[in-house]
Amino acid sequence: MDKRQLFDQVSHMETQIGELYEQLGNLKGHVSEIIEENHKLNVENKHLRSYLGTHDETTPEEDKTHILPGEGVDNLARIYKEGFHICHMQFGSPRTDEDCLFCLELID
Ligand SMILES: [Zn+2]
Repeated sequence: MDKRQLFDQVSHMETQIGELYEQLGNLKGHVSEIIEENHKLNVENKHLRSYLGTHDETTPEEDKTHILPGEGVDNLARIYKEGFHICHMQFGSPRTDEDCLFCLELID
């Protein structure tokens, strides 16, 4: 292998490493997006489960005894305050900073 070939090969490798590095950066971006999305879904899922837990009509009687009257509304108000819709239109989806009139109507 002459010096010229060697130099070309090293240059080629350098280009490939640059491309790989760029791909790695892109993948890292996607991974953090997915982690963030997963976190949001986990929080949302927790809220939905706690909502269903107090509203599920099929829950056996003994499991319902710890639920006090009005607790469901308190739960909804809490979920709303934490930034999620509780109205039928957009239930469980994250709210923007503005109040939602449909949600507020439910809490009242
Ligand atoms: Zn709403």
